[in-house]
Amino acid sequence: MPTRNHIINQIKHALKQAESILLTSHIKPDPDGLGSCIAIYRWLKPIKKNVQIVCDGGSAPEYSFLPNTDEVGSNPQDLSSKYDIVMTFDCGDFNRLNSIAEVDSVKTSFIINIDHHKSNTFFGDINWVDATYAATTLMVFDLLSDLKVKIDSQTALALYTGLVTDTGHFSFSNADQRCHETAKKLISYGVRPEFVSEHIDRKKKPGQLKLISETIKRYQMNKKGDIAWVIFDPSLFKNCNFIPNDTQEYINLLRSIDGCKLAILFREVKSQQFKVSMRSTKGIDVALLASKWGGGGHARAAGFSISGPRKDVINTVLNTAEKFAAKARNTK
Ligand code: 5GP
Ligand code: MN
Repeated sequence: MPTRNHIINQIKHALKQAESILLTSHIKPDPDGLGSCIAIYRWLKPIKKNVQIVCDGGSAPEYSFLPNTDEVGSNPQDLSSKYDIVMTFDCGDFNRLNSIAEVDSVKTSFIINIDHHKSNTFFGDINWVDATYAATTLMVFDLLSDLKVKIDSQTALALYTGLVTDTGHFSFSNADQRCHETAKKLISYGVRPEFVSEHIDRKKKPGQLKLISETIKRYQMNKKGDIAWVIFDPSLFKNCNFIPNDTQEYINLLRSIDGCKLAILFREVKSQQFKVSMRSTKGIDVALLASKWGGGGHARAAGFSISGPRKDVINTVLNTAEKFAAKARNTK
């Protein structure tokens, strides 16, 4: 594996020669993916690069407090016919770009893959993948700092918001010293933490509150009390208007139960099609668990998609989860 300095030099060299650059992230990007794209956009645009941000699903209305979100494209029609470079952020698997991955100008381009997912498949021509980083926006911060790019308050806001959401407001195990040191610098560039919390945590809609109450009402636990799960069925979504990237709200409630080592949220997005989110504590690697069904993520936060009759899906996932939890119990 080449060193960080070597990779950053490669990125710098490639970008210097490129004219047209696409910045993208996984489908329905969260503030980590979006914030990374925005920070690079705000660096490259003023130096006259032909740069574009396009992500499948675009920028959700909840993130419109971030700069440049009104310039983010949302589907393949927004793409150009050719790019010198495609930069992907916070995307562990090329297929997670979803519809963007199917377009020739993206597929055939030179790809720079910058990501912190443990399960990253190294799909790029240059891959800067480092799972020790709590957020991709931290990697982007280091990249811009190494290249001596000036970070203004709006770029700092985009980077800081990714850091806040990927660390659960600096509460997860990934919230290390580097995180806090970078946060300090971003605050010194003009970020107001309260402003970010106001937008991320204090703009809940009635539907979200209803989903929180349904989570508390519906959740179940195994006999040992270390696995908690909840099933959101399509009828629930009709009433509650689930917001993409909102999984943290509900799954973290389950993870907060005393003794819970593994929390699972089953979302039946369409009849017999499930999106499964998982969170764990030390000893249970959910990225590995998700990989059993073609998914991935981090050791403590991961997800996957699975289809089949509801009962079969729940049983299969819970049986495998039990095996992981049993192993963790035995290796205590
Ligand atoms: P969430 O549960 O919030 O949707 O996702 C948790 C983590 O797992 C995120 O880092 C996300 O990128 C990753 N993840 C979620 N679903 C998938 C999936 O289907 N495939 C892969 N490779 N990663 C996923
Ligand atoms: Mn991330």
